[in-house]
Amino acid sequence: MEKTRCLIIGSGPAGFTAAIYASRANLQPILYEGMQPGGQLTTTTEIENFPGYPNGIDGNQLMDDLRKQAKNFGADVRWGVVTSVDFSISPKKIVIDETQTIEADTVIIATGASAMYLGLPDEQKYAGQGVSACATCDGFFYRKKDVAVVGGGDTACEEAIYLAGLCNKVYMIVRKNYLRASTIMQKRVMETPNIEILFEHNTVGLTGENGVDGADLIKRKGEPDEERVHIAIDGFFLAIGHKPNSDIFKPYLETDQTGYIKTIPGTPCTSIPGVFAAGDVADPVYRQAITAAGSGCKAAIEAERYLSQNGL
Ligand code: NDP
Repeated sequence: MEKTRCLIIGSGPAGFTAAIYASRANLQPILYEGMQPGGQLTTTTEIENFPGYPNGIDGNQLMDDLRKQAKNFGADVRWGVVTSVDFSISPKKIVIDETQTIEADTVIIATGASAMYLGLPDEQKYAGQGVSACATCDGFFYRKKDVAVVGGGDTACEEAIYLAGLCNKVYMIVRKNYLRASTIMQKRVMETPNIEILFEHNTVGLTGENGVDGADLIKRKGEPDEERVHIAIDGFFLAIGHKPNSDIFKPYLETDQTGYIKTIPGTPCTSIPGVFAAGDVADPVYRQAITAAGSGCKAAIEAERYLSQNGL
């Protein structure tokens, strides 16, 4: 059976930064990229707030650079999805693509988070036929059409602005009477003429014979002036937050209600010695590329310490 001193699961900023530090510390890490190589930044456009890029950088470019940097120092970056783990023994056992098992002295979990859906049956019914959770991936298909974005956070604003550049009209469906997004993003949305914000609206269903042609909404749900509203749209984009990708670790590691892996505050250390969690999978608060990268660095340093303290 293959054995490694350091196995990194995930290929976002946390995973690749851990790989850079671990390979420079001569841990010869193996990194499995997972289902979405490069992670969430590959589904965004321009990253404007990653230090070192005064003019911003394309998300895919940033991830390609991080991958290259990790490989340059000797990280073994592989395609493959970790499908199960056994953390009850040391070395830990990790199963790749349900077939291949690897033993690892240390494991760095950097599996990130995935887009959330409202939970309406219509989201499944129209999956790939008008429903999407990634404007930059699918926006192109809705050029000059009318679309809706659900959510009032930074992601929703970013996606609405991106879609406004492609589409005829963009509705933002916001359940509260205000946007949660940062002031700068709110201002950009307000200044975009073809975005219309529908405050205090909830989606109850989608309509259409062959793909989406509209959405049924309820305005001011539960209030005396509650009203049903129908909007004609061809695309329905979810931007209501993310769920941490922690399911396969739950038998071994404690998570919070949403599923974020609990770590010792200020560190990437989990309740199992030798297992570390970095990036969005363990961060319900900041969830930024730069904070993910920082925690990946910490995880690699902790892995190195664990190995030397245990003579591994
Ligand atoms: P957030 O959790 O910040 O926002 C989610 C939004 O979706 C909220 O408006 C929320 O409404 C709404 N929502 C959640 N569930 C439902 C539901 N069931 N029905 C209707 N609406 C719902 O997620 P984001 O993905 O926007 O952002 C995550 C983090 O990433 C934040 O910290 C954000 O600042 C950051 N980010 C930063 C960017 C940047 O700096 N360039 C870009 C994108 C994200 P409500 O307000 O009512 O809870």
